[in-house]
Amino acid sequence: MHYISTRGHAEPQTFCDILLGGLAPDGGLYLPDHYPQVTASDLAAWRQLSYADLAFEVLSRFITDIPAEDLRDIVGSTYTAQTYKHCRPACNAADITPLTTLEPGLHLLELSNGPTLAFKDMAMQLLGNLFEYVLEKRGETINILGATSGDTGSAAEYAMRGKKGVRVFMLSPHGKMSAFQRAQMYSLQDANICNIAVEGMFDDAQDIVKAVSNDAAFKARYKIGAVNSINWARVAAQIVYYFKGYFEATTSNTERVAFSVPSGNFGNICAGHIARMMGLPIERLVLATNENDVLDEFFKTGLYRPRATAETHITSSPSMDISKASNFERFVFDLVGRDPEIVRSLWRNVDAGGAFDLGGTVHMANLAKYGMVSGRSNHANRLATIQDVWKKYATMIDTHTADGMKVALEYRQPGIPMVVLETAQAVKFAETIVEALGCEPGRPAEMEGIEKLPQKVKVMAADVEAIKGIIARSCN
Ligand SMILES: *Cc1c(COP(=O)(O)O)cnc(C)c1O
Repeated sequence: MHYISTRGHAEPQTFCDILLGGLAPDGGLYLPDHYPQVTASDLAAWRQLSYADLAFEVLSRFITDIPAEDLRDIVGSTYTAQTYKHCRPACNAADITPLTTLEPGLHLLELSNGPTLAFKDMAMQLLGNLFEYVLEKRGETINILGATSGDTGSAAEYAMRGKKGVRVFMLSPHGKMSAFQRAQMYSLQDANICNIAVEGMFDDAQDIVKAVSNDAAFKARYKIGAVNSINWARVAAQIVYYFKGYFEATTSNTERVAFSVPSGNFGNICAGHIARMMGLPIERLVLATNENDVLDEFFKTGLYRPRATAETHITSSPSMDISKASNFERFVFDLVGRDPEIVRSLWRNVDAGGAFDLGGTVHMANLAKYGMVSGRSNHANRLATIQDVWKKYATMIDTHTADGMKVALEYRQPGIPMVVLETAQAVKFAETIVEALGCEPGRPAEMEGIEKLPQKVKVMAADVEAIKGIIARSCN
């Protein structure tokens, strides 16, 4: 299996070659040169498998440059009941992504049972183990630099803590995260985790990451890497749970299902798109946005108009507060018939701060073939949905999952189970739960009182040279 760039001007690469990198050198995103196809007998055999065995079967179609027995070990030690233990009462943690049935034909797929209680753990934990394996083989090290406003940074730190050859420098906006989020990250005492609270907003932290990454000499000297959502391995890992969710929601492989996906950077739903392209019987992929509706606008009209950062709404489903969807180019590459020339011309406008409009073109006419539909949700919808699900099913859902649920209910079809992806646990967004339900969500026993644990964090000015200094001194 080789990986090609959506912009067509980069050499094809193998999985391990793109694992540690970000964008392709031509500015595009890597995708497999073809989608492996699953047969009816594959599906029949895979239905019985444990999560780890299923992950091996799916991932080994995409990862052909790691020996099978090593890959089996890596996924086996990643997808354990111990790591994904924070599931609902009465669930079976060994399922890794248990399915909660709310009523016949309406399900939640629990993806947020890992160490940081958000679905990003599903892929990031695998990434941690893959990084350690590949770095050790090559005798290399990496300094991961990132900026976070919450979920991504904590998922990265819990995945990379203690990994040989890996050091993490995570910038967060000082005083802007919730006490729970701060405690999750800053209470990590591992020597290879460096938390830096930057005086400023998230965008100031993000700008520093960009400035450091644009310094090619510094980047090469200190082996700066990233684990952001365009990383192909993260997308690949997420394909697995569409298969698992399909098997859990059906009893035979002749059935079709729909998935509803709370979306921001288009990483999660991109994995669903690929599962569908591989032949998994997915009737529809329902894309749900919050008030930041750039993707809903595209799927309704064909206009893709990334917003200015200042235009981005700060919402109660903050992990979907994006102005442009960094993985979207992968889907558009397929939509335009994998023609890199078209992608280059569309993104010439996007990269210059503009937009493109596929409305009325043959490409939009093809959209139905991909099963994508979309909708949006707002704060009032979110509160009402959290209340309804609580009243009807005695089940508490988080704000992002509520956006997915709200839009899912607009697209139910007779005979097609609707599976709503649960992307975080309610406790992570407790303030809005209190607003909706008037009570504090419970948290896993081991997370009681984490706000009181000693914290390890450096508070620093938003100054690029100072941050480079910390990296150069290995966090000292
Ligand atoms: C990251 C995140 C999302 C959005 O996922 P994308 O892959 O960026 O579309 C949704 N919900 C939660 C809780 C998240 O952390």
